[in-house]
Amino acid sequence: MNIGISFSEAALIFSLLVAFVYFYKPKLDTIENKIYKNLLIVSIIGCIVSIPTYYLVKNYPEVNIFTSIIPRLYLCYILAWVFLMTQYVVILCCKDNEKKVFSKTSKVFKILYLSAVVMTFVLPMKYFNESGVVYTYGASVTFTYIVCAIHIMYWFVALFMNYKLIRSKKCIPIVSVFLLGSLMAIIQWIDPRIRLMTPTISFITMIMYFTIENPDLKLINELNIAKEQAEKANKAKTDFLSSMSHEIRTPLNAIDGFSQLILEENDIKIIKEEARDIMAASQNLLEIVNGILDISKIEANKLEIVKVEYEPRKIFDELIKLTKARIGEKPLEFKINIADDLPDYLNGDYIRLKQIAVNLLTNAVKYTKKGFIELNVSVVKKDKVCRLIISVKDSGIGIKKENIEKLFTKFERFDLEKNMTIEGTGLGLAITKKLVELMNGKIVVDSTYGKGSTFTVAIDQKIVNKTKVIPAEAKVVKKLSIKGKKILIVDDNLINLKVASRLLESYKVETELVSSGFDCIKRIEEGNKYDLILMDDMMPKMSGVETFKKLSRMDDFDIPVVALTANAIAGMKENYLKEGFDDYISKPIDKKELERVLKTYLNAKK
Ligand code: ADP
Repeated sequence: MNIGISFSEAALIFSLLVAFVYFYKPKLDTIENKIYKNLLIVSIIGCIVSIPTYYLVKNYPEVNIFTSIIPRLYLCYILAWVFLMTQYVVILCCKDNEKKVFSKTSKVFKILYLSAVVMTFVLPMKYFNESGVVYTYGASVTFTYIVCAIHIMYWFVALFMNYKLIRSKKCIPIVSVFLLGSLMAIIQWIDPRIRLMTPTISFITMIMYFTIENPDLKLINELNIAKEQAEKANKAKTDFLSSMSHEIRTPLNAIDGFSQLILEENDIKIIKEEARDIMAASQNLLEIVNGILDISKIEANKLEIVKVEYEPRKIFDELIKLTKARIGEKPLEFKINIADDLPDYLNGDYIRLKQIAVNLLTNAVKYTKKGFIELNVSVVKKDKVCRLIISVKDSGIGIKKENIEKLFTKFERFDLEKNMTIEGTGLGLAITKKLVELMNGKIVVDSTYGKGSTFTVAIDQKIVNKTKVIPAEAKVVKKLSIKGKKILIVDDNLINLKVASRLLESYKVETELVSSGFDCIKRIEEGNKYDLILMDDMMPKMSGVETFKKLSRMDDFDIPVVALTANAIAGMKENYLKEGFDDYISKPIDKKELERVLKTYLNAKK
């Protein structure tokens, strides 16, 4: 068996495999990779050359053109590999600016290598072929070995001088040259028939494949994209916070300023006027907070479209009433066209539909000084689906072409000099667009600056086939008569307690105020009787939910408990009801909501 040749063939196969994997995978553009690419190519060429070299030396001892060139090419391969490894060691040991060192030393290496190649061709070479032992010798071979020895000595010194590098995995190929080279020498000394030079070189080249820094490029790209996204999200959050701080400070400034003025004012007329301004600023503040809640819910994909059956005509009637109230004294004509063939019942999220239309109508009123605003509702019916096309037209200030694109971006407001007095947050249209998209609809704008705008929304709703039942007699509205009823209000915030009790004063009910869950439980344990408990949730030490649970576990406890909380994110109402609370009112307290709760829990008991 030709042991030497079998090893070379095996080395060629696994070098080709490594090359295939290496060139197939995406790589970083580093010096290390450049050197490694050359090493790999050289080691494949070396394997290929070693096979005919062996045959030629073994079978054709007489000198001819092949026997004098091919074995020398084999020596060139060994020299090339060693020179490349030296270049690798130089780069490994250089402290900084690898690129500069590489480009500077490359030329020197090329010249030295070419000189060495010339020497191997010039110097004589002899062949040894006896009883299975085949090798070349002579001045050319000795020269090659001396050059290799000088290089290996240099590696040794370089590593010795940079001994800290030895621990790094990048040194493994060099160290393995020392170890495997010595092993190879010992094996060949024991049995000179075994030619191990080519497989050893290929094996070390393969080892190097695992040690060079070559992280998966795809992974790097993904990480870079993720990093960019995280940075963008972070910036958006910072922008959001700074805009919010500004938006919230504006109405707060009004509330704070007017409150101070009221404290110093004695004229009741002026006080009332200023109180009205405080109310307007509070309303604005509430709008901002609700807008933020909506936007954050939408962006966190937490806003759900809740489809229920509804009567669209009722919704549009409410919208019309609301818009008329908003127009108030403004010299605006309100034109209304509602399609006659609007179905009696539809199925969809009417609350969000209403919110969309309210936003558009409110903007039309806000940004139109005189002229008209127009609400058009048309329908296109197909099978069981009704496409509602709601368009809101105005003869207002209009929007510049360049601003139309930015219209649906949150916090964008235009013509601020002109609109100084018009309140707004720049959130309305951003929310509107997202809501329309959530409902799989479309929104388009057509506007001429200075002349007016038309916003059109198209949303599909399911038609419910049902005949309208006209009630024989209207429901009797219960009159609120709760005088003398006793309500316990639990809240750790004194101002909140004061606001709630003042709002309840007008109903002539008796209120008791406590500032913690502990006090609430104590009152009940003492045997005090109440008709209703209004309970805050976020209280220190014992939350409203915990207090409620403790109360529920008491014998004979049957007082209705209503959560009265600023915790107003989507789903909170459902959460409180799930906890067992009888009802839920969000803060700031809406008088209508309060009245509804009073009617339900105090009137009913009569
Ligand atoms: P806001 O009205 O609270 O500022 P919106 O998101 O509803 O926020 O609107 C963003 C901006 O688009 C407004 O500030 C205004 O400049 C412009 N805009 C919206 N609707 C109209 C309209 N009907 N006519 C003219 N400009 C409008």
